[in-house]
Amino acid sequence: MKTIKLLSAALTIIFVGGCVTTRVKSSAMHFAANQVIAHRGAFKKNNFPENSIASLREAIRLGCTGSEFDVRMTADEVLVVNHDPHHGGMDIENTTYAKLRTVLLSNGEEIPTLEAYLKEGLMNNQSTRLVMEIKSSPAGTARGQLLAQRVWEQVKKCKASNRVEYISFDYNILTKLLLLDASVVTHYLDGNKSPAELKSAGIKGLDYNYKVYQENPHWIAEAKAQGLVLNVWTVNEPAQLEWCIGQGFDFITTNEPEYLLQIKR
Ligand code: MG
Repeated sequence: MKTIKLLSAALTIIFVGGCVTTRVKSSAMHFAANQVIAHRGAFKKNNFPENSIASLREAIRLGCTGSEFDVRMTADEVLVVNHDPHHGGMDIENTTYAKLRTVLLSNGEEIPTLEAYLKEGLMNNQSTRLVMEIKSSPAGTARGQLLAQRVWEQVKKCKASNRVEYISFDYNILTKLLLLDASVVTHYLDGNKSPAELKSAGIKGLDYNYKVYQENPHWIAEAKAQGLVLNVWTVNEPAQLEWCIGQGFDFITTNEPEYLLQIKR
């Protein structure tokens, strides 16, 4: 009986809109205590497609503290996970989802929808935060704002708010998210704002290219003093990884999650 109660406390079946999944309650959630964020999922070692469901599952299986992925919006406002602005020779923003899905990824998966990706990230996952990069819209600021709104709605619908952290090169997308919900966790990617500027905007962290930190080394101490989260991308070479570990970054985004997990201190 005690076992049954424990199980029912740990697991709950969620039926919300199109998102039906089994997930761990937020009260039982604690992300893995490592620095490793798998860039576009853990794709490289197993030759999975970047940003595929398979790469996400592998990042979770490895126990990475985070798995990064990229989100764009189709012509008919379906949110899909893809790095490039095109898929199978089709421009994502100007193509319907029905057309896009006809071109499969190299492992036979369809291009993932954000909904499918979030559902996968909620299942059998007690370690890995979902680090969602919202891509700037090639169509301009207004569509970027709509994209941010649709993403936020999808995350709420899937009850994934406690798993998702948002990153973007588009500062206006992050401030839009903060207008929708001041408690969302956001990190800025573009490397052109000081820790003090981000702090005053309510942005939780820096997520800059490692060269930006090497050119502005005082930002590392400043960010720590401000209580901001320090993330760095995309670090793959052993010497660069060692440098980042030595600087005390909270997170390191890498295409080599297996290697970083092996050498982490
Ligand atoms: Mg990305």
